[in-house]
Amino acid sequence: MPGPHRDHYDVVVAGGGPAGAAAALALARAGRSVLLADTGAGPAKLGEALPAVAKVLLRDLGAGEQPLLEGHLTCYANQSGWGSAALGSTDFIRDPNGPGWHLDRARFDQGLREAAHRAGAEPAAHTTVRGAARQAGGWSVTLRERGAAARQVRCRWLVDATGRRRAVTARLPAAHRRTDQLVASCLELAPAPAGLATSGSSLVEAVADGWWYTAPLPGGRRLLAYFTDADLTGPLGPAEFRRLLGRTRHVAPRAAAHPLPEGAAPRRAPAHSAHLDTPVGAGWLAVGDAATAFDPVSSQGVLTALHTGMTGGLALHAHLDGDPAALDSYRTNVRALLAAYRRNHHAVYALERRWADRPFWQRRHIPSTERNPG
Ligand SMILES: Cc1cc2nc3c(=O)[nH]c(=O)nc-3n(C[C@H](O)[C@H](O)[C@H](O)COP(=O)(O)OP(=O)(O)OC[C@H]3O[C@@H](n4cnc5c(N)ncnc54)[C@H](O)[C@@H]3O)c2cc1C
Repeated sequence: MPGPHRDHYDVVVAGGGPAGAAAALALARAGRSVLLADTGAGPAKLGEALPAVAKVLLRDLGAGEQPLLEGHLTCYANQSGWGSAALGSTDFIRDPNGPGWHLDRARFDQGLREAAHRAGAEPAAHTTVRGAARQAGGWSVTLRERGAAARQVRCRWLVDATGRRRAVTARLPAAHRRTDQLVASCLELAPAPAGLATSGSSLVEAVADGWWYTAPLPGGRRLLAYFTDADLTGPLGPAEFRRLLGRTRHVAPRAAAHPLPEGAAPRRAPAHSAHLDTPVGAGWLAVGDAATAFDPVSSQGVLTALHTGMTGGLALHAHLDGDPAALDSYRTNVRALLAAYRRNHHAVYALERRWADRPFWQRRHIPSTERNPG
């Protein structure tokens, strides 16, 4: 039986993805009273790759990395048709941390929230942070649990970990910049018939107006995703998706082993790069995608969410303990991550020159610091 709710916390964390769960875990382990509210709705995140170095981060976080990393598919190699028609491969045989994973995100996120709960954070599942009003010494936060009446709680600090949606900071005077308009069209394929072998590695393939990603999913299923800019295509129907898939050299043969669902339209999801000018404001802190959202080509989103969640949570604890420099060092840390991401993003897209005259690639061949933020 859950105990009675408190009505005052040091920190309310809005969003229970990797960033929010990591922040709540770090704060609770440091002895802070924390409420971790997660809407728990929205489409499942499928086929995401997590590099093996995440093991180290989860250990630092005290999350109990072993059970958290069970039940996902092992990712032994990344293949790519990028910069040339030939297929290149990076296998993880030489990685000192071993192979990575194709995550079952629902399982991974749930495991992290449970770790935060074990450390003392109060979980509020199926609960949306609806609004927050500034009041002396903190916030009055409106929570709405699915099927229940609204509830008010008070807290000293509010953490926005609601992903690209930025449910908290979008309502505050916090400057936000979007540096591209990348969108993903994702389709999940049913298992291949018995006897047909399918590859266990992930694959990225550049095409004229974007790039494709495919990865195996649990139960023999497969994810197909096409990334391009929102202004270059409207929502793709089944026929258009098939037509574009048919033009790929490497992805189509992987998909061919699976029955392609007749008439099923791909799901469109935002995948743009964006960031807040500063991840810290008066009484609030942003972590994960709410602070800096990366192009999925980097495969760094979950890792960065864990890292900023943990470092943001620890910085906030130190600040509440009276350390005057703690939040500034979090700010500097996020700025450095963003600068490294930008350099890497530019270098990766610069490797592909076959369609240098096409808008999708032209935009990415300009360093992002020179681009007009959207
Ligand atoms: C198509 C695509 C493919 C990707 N592939 C990869 C990949 O291969 N590898 C990788 O590392 N990253 C990948 N990413 C990026 C990765 O998904 C994100 O970086 C990561 O999920 C960020 O974690 P987060 O905790 O910041 O946000 P999220 O995971 O988005 O979590 C936010 C949470 O907040 C909750 N929430 C939202 N609003 C509210 C509210 N008002 N109140 C309470 N809760 C709320 C949501 O339910 C959710 O649980 C991909 C992204 C996309 C779009």
